[in-house]
Amino acid sequence: MSPTANIANMATSAATATASKELLSNRILQMEESATIAMAKKGRELAAKGHDVINLSFGEPDFGTPQHIREAAKQAIDEGWSHYTPVPGYLELRRAVADKFLRENGLKYSPEQIVVSTGAKQCIANVVLSTVNEGDEVLILAPYWVSYLEVVKLAGGVPIIVSGRFESNFKPSIAAIEAAITPSTKLIMYSSPSNPTGGVFSKADLVALAAMLRNYPDVLVMADEIYEHLNYVGGHHSLAAEDGMIDRVITINGLSKAFAMTGWRVGYMGAPLHIAKACDKMQGQFTSGTCSIAQRAAITALNASLAPTLEMTRRFGIRRKAMFEAMSAIPGLKVQEPDGAFYLFPDVTYYLGKRAPDGSTIATATDLCMYLLETAFVSLVSGEAFGDPDCIRISFAAADEKLAEAVERIKTALAKLS
Ligand code: PMP
Ligand code: GLU
Repeated sequence: MSPTANIANMATSAATATASKELLSNRILQMEESATIAMAKKGRELAAKGHDVINLSFGEPDFGTPQHIREAAKQAIDEGWSHYTPVPGYLELRRAVADKFLRENGLKYSPEQIVVSTGAKQCIANVVLSTVNEGDEVLILAPYWVSYLEVVKLAGGVPIIVSGRFESNFKPSIAAIEAAITPSTKLIMYSSPSNPTGGVFSKADLVALAAMLRNYPDVLVMADEIYEHLNYVGGHHSLAAEDGMIDRVITINGLSKAFAMTGWRVGYMGAPLHIAKACDKMQGQFTSGTCSIAQRAAITALNASLAPTLEMTRRFGIRRKAMFEAMSAIPGLKVQEPDGAFYLFPDVTYYLGKRAPDGSTIATATDLCMYLLETAFVSLVSGEAFGDPDCIRISFAAADEKLAEAVERIKTALAKLS
């Protein structure tokens, strides 16, 4: 192609890019891409170019789905479970979820109060889009999981960030949460065990939270308990089990973490009946019921023994100790031992402002993650996406030898910063 034709071509594609951007909604233009997904994608791109990338950016168990659950899915295919399902999920599955909530969490939900969705991610979107009006304030306890903020913005809600401090295991105090409540507060969102910090609300924390909430009867709470089995400090407790809370707490959970079923896309919620019905209506316009085969397998998963889950918890527990010790030994990193989930969330401020060997400045946690990805080929996620720009998130849901190798690479790369 001649140089002039090339320039004309570039001009046309620039014009097309502007025009196509103008055709997009403000809604999507204002939305950030999921940072967890973006970093995993960058890691895959480098791996496709032949680099040996260790991906610690994605929070997903490296274990396979237990065999009896896979068998149930095969059987479902052979039995012909191939039609549309009821929008909120098969009744048999909603019964299994209701039984699980009662058996493991002491929560009394009827099957009509259960909505099964395409991952807990869709449950969260359903709840926010079904309850939050334009201008409603939503308290998001921070550091928070990446998708909470974006879905609140999508709903036209006003996110109010209530941050926890490193010293208190990143858990905001009850007083700080209460101070953020106003007459416009509609919803409070949190995960416990927390992604990204691993912080866990203890029974005492939840008793105190419920006592405070009794003074604000119009405030709803979304309690995301998807990491409930990854609790290394004691039993899991649900806010909805506290007196009076079942009528305004939406409990989110799913099979991704507990049964190593991230790709199967099964999440569920227990909610007050009117909220469950609203989410059912929302889902009926967006996706309908989630995959029939995955739902049949989920019935088996929830009704069978928890032994495979507990074995995964045990192995994550060993990695947690090893990773905490290894990362704590790296000069300059401030690391909190996580009480739950499978992430470390170290404070990296010591390294911010330093220079990389190529002369560039590592100004932010995002720069640091890009430096570690491009030079050490370890993919992590910047704390900025979780509402804490001082930290980075490291998933330890990877094989032991990969984790050990990643720590060595991170240590070597950080030592080169001056
Ligand atoms: N909540 C939290 C806190 C998460 O970390 C995740 C990511 N697994 C989800 C919800 C969504 O999980 P899924 O859609 O795979 O069920
Ligand atoms: N929840 C996981 C994470 O935080 C999976 C990624 C995602 O669904 O955004 O890494």
